[in-house]
Amino acid sequence: MADPRAFLGVKARKAKPAPPSAPIEWPRADPAALAAFDPSSKVCCMNCGPASGDPRTRAERLFLCDDC
Ligand SMILES: [Zn+2]
Repeated sequence: MADPRAFLGVKARKAKPAPPSAPIEWPRADPAALAAFDPSSKVCCMNCGPASGDPRTRAERLFLCDDC
């Protein structure tokens, strides 16, 4: 039977650093459709505020929001 203490000398493999998260690809609205969209015609009731890295304008987020 192997001495369990023998395994203590085996170092755990170095954990790999987490891969960098892929940049989020934000869905973009069709510019013409967005231009015709009235942001005041829609109310976002969910948590649809700007996320970090979100390049969209408030109107574009509203326009693309399917949750509300
Ligand atoms: Zn919304």
